[in-house]
Parts: sequence; structure tokens; C-alpha cells
Amino acid sequence: MSECLRRFEKKTSLSLRLFSLVVLKNVPHCSFNHPIYVCLETMRLFQGVPQASLEQILVSYAILSSNFQALSDDQCGRSSLSDEVASAWFARFSEHLQRGDVASTTSLFLPNGWLRDFLAFDWDLRTLHGHEKISSYLSEHLPNSNFLGFELASDQYFKPSPGPMPGTVTAGFSFSTPIANGRGYFNLSSTTEMEDIAGWKASTVFITIDSLKNHEEKGAAGDIYGGRCPTWGEARDIEWRKAEEEPEVLIIGAGQNGLQVAARLQQMEISSLVVDKNDRVGDTWRRRYPTLALHTPKTHHSLLYQSFPSNWPFWTPRDKLAEWLEQYVVSQDLLVWTKSRVMPAPTYDRNSKRWTVTVNKAGQTCTLHPKHVVVATGMLGEPYIPKIEDQEIFEGQIMHSEGFSGGADFTGKRVIVVGTGNSGADIALDLSTHKARSVTMIQRSTTVVQPASTIAEQHLQVYPPDVPVEVSDFRAFATPTFRLFEILAETRGLMWDQEKDLIEGLRKAGMNVDMGPYGAGILPLVYLRFGGFWMDVGCGDKIIHGEIKVKSGVEITKFTKQSIVLSDGSAIEADVVIFATGYRHMAQMLKNLLSDEIIDETYSLPNGLDEEGEYEVGYRPTGHPGLWYAPGSFNNSRLQSKYLGIQFQALNIGYMKL
Ligand SMILES: Cc1cc2nc3c(=O)[nH]c(=O)nc-3n(C[C@H](O)[C@H](O)[C@H](O)COP(=O)(O)OP(=O)(O)OC[C@H]3O[C@@H](n4cnc5c(N)ncnc54)[C@H](O)[C@@H]3O)c2cc1C
Repeated sequence: MSECLRRFEKKTSLSLRLFSLVVLKNVPHCSFNHPIYVCLETMRLFQGVPQASLEQILVSYAILSSNFQALSDDQCGRSSLSDEVASAWFARFSEHLQRGDVASTTSLFLPNGWLRDFLAFDWDLRTLHGHEKISSYLSEHLPNSNFLGFELASDQYFKPSPGPMPGTVTAGFSFSTPIANGRGYFNLSSTTEMEDIAGWKASTVFITIDSLKNHEEKGAAGDIYGGRCPTWGEARDIEWRKAEEEPEVLIIGAGQNGLQVAARLQQMEISSLVVDKNDRVGDTWRRRYPTLALHTPKTHHSLLYQSFPSNWPFWTPRDKLAEWLEQYVVSQDLLVWTKSRVMPAPTYDRNSKRWTVTVNKAGQTCTLHPKHVVVATGMLGEPYIPKIEDQEIFEGQIMHSEGFSGGADFTGKRVIVVGTGNSGADIALDLSTHKARSVTMIQRSTTVVQPASTIAEQHLQVYPPDVPVEVSDFRAFATPTFRLFEILAETRGLMWDQEKDLIEGLRKAGMNVDMGPYGAGILPLVYLRFGGFWMDVGCGDKIIHGEIKVKSGVEITKFTKQSIVLSDGSAIEADVVIFATGYRHMAQMLKNLLSDEIIDETYSLPNGLDEEGEYEVGYRPTGHPGLWYAPGSFNNSRLQSKYLGIQFQALNIGYMKL
């Protein structure tokens, strides 16, 4: 039989075989006993369909369909191969690492493979790409690593399984060092025949320190308040009073990043105090335009330790998110001071390794001496409105998108929306829905547009609703950021059927739509620019049908009393001009907060990726002792808060030095 299978597999492309499995998974009477049966059955069902088309469909399925990921090993008949491949590769990997054999470890990677290391080899977050970099990194760090106790995972989420891309196998693993418990995840690709076990190499390996020994997170069983006497309330008050006097960590900003960091630190028994200038936690969201609902699915933006109720809407509305953040403070017992601003400028004493920070708390000043300051103030500076000639003579209304309080105020008015990012598109849609007399969007250069449903589909691949979010986070971070961009670029064409009506329609309507960095769509821009994209929820259709107009390739050069004049010389009469032009760079905001001297000492600002694809200074040393940043989206702080906390513990114990 195995010879028969081998011959069959040689003759039938891998993609067709895998496609067969996907299709027949949904055929009730199919027993999935054997891949050959599956393939033959599929061929029968799809007689006459060109193989190239089938392969195209397969790839779409493999990448886009959660069915494929949900295929259990028994069903797809590949369990033995996944197990065999993963076990064999992992046995060599763990042995080479434990022997300190750099060359042999490197040879287990594809020549263009990736190693992502969160604290396992070095006290930093690093990504190495290609044999040369991996080898030199291992040469530097492997001799001091002392890895032991490697074990391949066997639980339902991390056991060896077919990977999300055709012809790949993934698995998780654990290990330890004398001081730490570690975890990892690898993705293997076949470089020769699939049955040639030695031909499987790692395209990615993610290796992390998950906790320091004897400093693990407490969890529910840990009962951090220590029983019934004192009561939970009394115990919490004692903790809070201590933290208010001398927090180990001061977190500036009670958005999702600051709060998730605080929740994590609490579980690691690191005391923290969060200060926020807003009156209420969540006000940043409440101030944004009223129709805003998150453009990412709820699994992607759930909060650490606390998933949403099962009937929570798929797209979380602005106000619900704001309330949820407020509730999170309560349910996670976080110590948060609102109406509190850090006064200029904090100072750091290198001898005591403590900050002196003065906080104005609702009019009262208090001085704190934390060991660490975590800046979680978001990546946006002040709202940005370009300076335009004769702005003051315009008789209509001018505002920033942040001041837009809903389309109902503009019924019957001629409105210009400057900027074609997400906010501009959502606001234009709201205006048109509320029967503004005209809505015209001004597009200066080019925008990446994708339907929000496509982005959701991509997210759901990585964050499926039926998988715990901490599992999805770990698996998601196992793909280095730049590798993710490559995958998105490779698979972008598969979305075309879902996207082409929108994109071609917008182009016909005069908009300049591009395919994004690397042709990979919107997601890279979320990391690289925090703007220049639009996840469409209906504005596109209105443009295509002429209900919203777009002027592209122009900017406003001046105002007249009742109109705007554009760089092509044309003019448009207007009652209202809304600038959806984003926010100023965060540099000035950080300098105002911390002083030029402190910022000048840091390697970089927290809003950019380094050449390895990691945040340059997010959740890792910044260049200034005691100063840390918590940037990014929900998933960043949800997972990376752990590595931040471990670094605090390691500094305390003396494992890590700055
Ligand atoms: C219009 C719009 C739509 C968006 N839609 C999505 C989406 O659909 N999905 C998604 O994942 N992301 C979305 N984002 C991005 C999202 O806002 C960020 O991912 C997220 O808010 C960043 O969280 P944060 O905690 O870092 O910052 P923020 O949420 O901005 O929180 C920062 C906090 O710091 C406080 N703060 C700032 N400066 C100080 C100071 N000096 N002293 C004290 N406190 C201070 C602020 O008051 C605020 O509460 C959107 C952003 C915008 C502008």
C-alpha cells in the first residue's frame, strides 16, 4: 500500500491532494480512510475541471478556509506524516541545541528560514532571517544557553499538524533552562519528496522564555490575595496603598496597551500604577467618530485573561469598547488614576535605579519613585490639520475628524472630507447616509482599500473563534512580521475575486487605489504607517454609485469665503470641511512628556519596526534604563506584556543587566 501511495502522490500534485481532503471533509459519507481514496473521489467530483483551477481553489481554501485548519489529523490521514516529520526534525533540533552545535542547528532551517527569539537566547526580542544571520546569532548566544528538557507538544493546539500552507507541518514544543521555562513553535516545509523525512526544514522557529522559574504567573489558583482573612477587599486595599506610594512600575496611559500590561504585571506580582489624563478610561474611543466600530473581528481585539461574552458583536462598537476597557479595570483589579498627568519632566537616578515622577492627580500633585516607567500613550500625536492659505476667511465650518460628532449634524450641507483613510471613508459614509447635500472626498496620493470582510477573513484565519486567544497569539507571533508580509503578498491574488468589484469600481470612479507595500494589502501599513488604508464597510459602494464624489491627485491650496481651491486649479463650494488627515508624529508628544534629554538617549521611537521586523523599542530595552514602551495593537500587549514582565523580573533578580 505504501508503494502505491508513493506512486500516487508522485503523480498527483500536493495541492490537489490537499484540496481533496478539504472538499471531502464536507462529504458526509466519506470515511477519509486513505488519501488515495480521497483523491480519487475528488477527481471524480471535479471531472473536467482543469487542474490549474483546482490548485488555485486549493490554495484559497488552504489559506482562507478555517475548515482546512480545523481538519483533524485523523480525518485528513496525514497524522502519521505530520508526527513523523515533526518528531524527526525536533529530535535533531533539540539535540543540536543541547550540544551547542551551531552549524547543524542552522542546517535545520531553510536557507531563507527565520528564527524569532523572545528572550530565550538573549534578553531581547530578535528575528534572524537566513542561514548567515541565524548562524552568527547562534554562535554568539548558543554557548551560554543551557537548554534542556525539550519536549514536543501533544496537546490539541500545538501537537504536530499540517500547517496552514500546503506542504507544511507545524508543532509546538517546551524546554527549560536552569532559570526559566521555555516554549516554542516551528513550521516545516518539505524541500524534497514529502516522505523524505530528512528533507523537511524549518521555515520559521519561534523560541521564547515563557516564565522565570519560581516567578511564574499566579493565575486564578494562585489567589494573590491569600485567602479569606484579611478579606479580598482589605487585601486589595493594602496592595493598592503600597502601590500608590511606591509602585514598581508606573504605566502612563490607560488604553488597551497600558491596561493589559498592568493586568499582566499584577499576575506576575509586580506592582503597578496606571495614570491617564482622561476623565474616564475609554474616553479616547468615546471621542472618535460615533459610527466607529472596530474594523477587526472581536477575537483579534479581546483583552488579556478576559474574552468577550459569547453574544458580543463581531465588530465592537466604539462605545462598547470604551465601556469594556472601564470594566476591565474593575474585573482585573487594576489600580488606575484618571485625570492624572505626568508633570514635566521625570528624572532618573542611575545609582538608585529609580525615577522621580511628579503626577498631577485631579489638581493634587504627588511624587512617585518607580523603578520602571512604561509609556503606553498610543502612537498618535495631536490631531493634524494642515495650514492652508486663507483658512480664516472661509465662512463655513472646519474641523478635524476627531471632532466629528456624527452625520446627523450635516444633513443638507455640502461637505468636503479631506483624506481617504479609514476615518475619512467612515465619516463620508455617515454623511451620505444622513443626507448631506453633497459629499466630496479629497485624495492627495494613493490609498490601499480592501473590504473589511476580507481583512476579517484574514484575521479569522489566525484568530479563529473556537481557539483560545492565547493559543492564537502564540501561533500568530511564531510567524515573524516580515515573513507575514511575504505570505500576505503571496496570497493576495486569492482575494482578488472578493476585492475586484470594489477596487476596480473605485478606480473607475477616479480614485487612486494601490495594492499596499509588497502588494500585500492593508496589514503591513498597520505596522509601518498607521494610516494610508481603508477597510471598507460601505463607503466604496457609495463612491462607485456616484453618491459620494472623489477628487484624486489633488490637495487644497487655499480657501475662499465659500469654497476650497484645489491644486489642479478647480474649486468646490462647501459648507463644511472635515480634515481626516490623521495625527502629528508622536515625537513631540514624547518629548513634552519625558524631555528631549531622555528621548535623545533612546534608540528610537516606539512607532517603527527595526530591520528585523520587531518594534524598535516596544516591549524591549529602549536605550534609556527604566524606560519602556508598550505600543501596537491589542495582540501586541496581550502577548508581549509577558516578555516585558519577565524582563522586569530578570532585572530584579540580576539575570538581566541594562
Ligand atoms: C479612528 C481610529 C480607528 C481605529 N480603529 C481600530 C480598529 O478597528 N482596530 C484596531 O485594532 N485598532 C484601531 N485603531 C488603532 C487603535 O486606536 C490603537 O491600536 C490603540 O488605541 C492603541 O492603544 P494604546 O493603548 O496604545 O493607545 P490609546 O488607546 O490611544 O490609549 C492611550 C491612552 O494614553 C493616555 N495618554 C496619552 N498621553 C498621556 C499623558 N501625557 N498622560 C497621561 N495619559 C496620557 C490617553 O488619554 C489614552 O487613554 C484605530 C485608531 C483610530 C484613530
